Amino acid sequence: YEAADWYDAESLLTPEERQVLARLRSFLDTEAKPLLAEYWERGEFPEQLARPLIDLDLMEPAELAGAPGAGHGPARGIYQGFRIFELARTDASLATWYTAQAGLFRTAIRVGASAEQQAEWMPKVIDFSLKGVFSLTEPEHGSDIAGGLSTTAGRQPDGSWILDGTKRWIGGASTADVLAVFARDAADGQVKAFLVDRTADGVTLDKIHGKTALRMMQNAHITLECVRVPEAMRLQNVNSFKDVAAMLRAMRSDVAWIATGIAAGAFQAALGYVNQRQQFGRTLGSFQLVQEKLARMLGNVTASLSLVVRLTEQQARGIYRDQDSALAKMQTSLFMRDTVALAREVVGGNGITLAADVARFHADAEAVYSYEGTHDINALIIGRALTGESAFTR
Ligand code: FAD
Repeated sequence: YEAADWYDAESLLTPEERQVLARLRSFLDTEAKPLLAEYWERGEFPEQLARPLIDLDLMEPAELAGAPGAGHGPARGIYQGFRIFELARTDASLATWYTAQAGLFRTAIRVGASAEQQAEWMPKVIDFSLKGVFSLTEPEHGSDIAGGLSTTAGRQPDGSWILDGTKRWIGGASTADVLAVFARDAADGQVKAFLVDRTADGVTLDKIHGKTALRMMQNAHITLECVRVPEAMRLQNVNSFKDVAAMLRAMRSDVAWIATGIAAGAFQAALGYVNQRQQFGRTLGSFQLVQEKLARMLGNVTASLSLVVRLTEQQARGIYRDQDSALAKMQTSLFMRDTVALAREVVGGNGITLAADVARFHADAEAVYSYEGTHDINALIIGRALTGESAFTR
């Protein structure tokens, strides 16, 4: 483990936090790892891990992390980041499952709900008794969702709303209690957000089949046909896409931690392999060309970890712009992609089998590379900040 945290960033945490992380690491090593290859191949999430993971205090301190003005220092955000890192270092779907609730849904409530709504919902979000998912992307609108979002919300004479439209790629929807659905107000054209009961009349969920990445995590295609939602279930502080952008800004930081964890997991699996596999009468790890690849992988992981730690410190101080999280998501994803490819390479033919562990990271990295803003979209956010010119459209 120490090899992946070369400059000991974990020393920024308190002894108690490190103990929780050690317990999490131990659980993941002993209980989760033996299941991963089988469940990945089957395309199913190992639900038996969910409750024990929740009971490992995964969520409560997370609520404190990154809450501006809450009086908690930068270390709290780093603690949250390390929990994501630990999960991703084991498996990208486990980390995505966690951040769907602790990142995406919790952020939707924290940023979008009124004080009264937060008082009612947040405790349930934290203990996972209200499970929710973030339903933004649509079949025809991914990168251009800000301007293109076409799901509609029509206000009714009794104050309720009628939602119509389709959503795509929604992670964890099949086991959620509610879907946080983003829809355009038919009257003023602004984006608003609603908590929709997953089992409500007019809601249809179809599992997306045939995925070659993040196979353990389920993604849904959602159809909303004349779905009635009471005004009380509208997130009162979401009044335009700017409020959604504030949510995405926070989430890209989580994804940068996931990308860092995936790179670390692949690097460690590769390191373990080359130190035991022999060719030409010597371990693979004793060859210069293999050592060069190990050094590059470690450099990628260390640079990523330094980047996310610094980003998280800045975030906790309230210095947190779109381009900051975009840069972290973009760069850690590039490092991740390079690392998983090198890891797969040094493991040779076994590197394309699930048994050697690097194949899972290699495949899953492709999903992480594309979600929460593709490489191009994050680069354009940075480019706009650098030049003052928006290059998203011609
Ligand atoms: P497109 O927008 O069609 O882009 C295709 C390619 O074109 C990309 O390479 C992109 O960079 C490039 N491109 C697009 N526009 C430009 C431009 N202006 N300039 C240059 N290049 C451009 N969404 C949710 O709402 N909730 C979820 O829980 C969720 N989970 C996901 C889980 C997985 C596994 C995946 C794969 C996706 C998930 N998404 C989710 C959706 C995800 O955020 C989108 O896939 C992502 O925003 C990209 O949109 P797209 O796939 O439609 O690609």
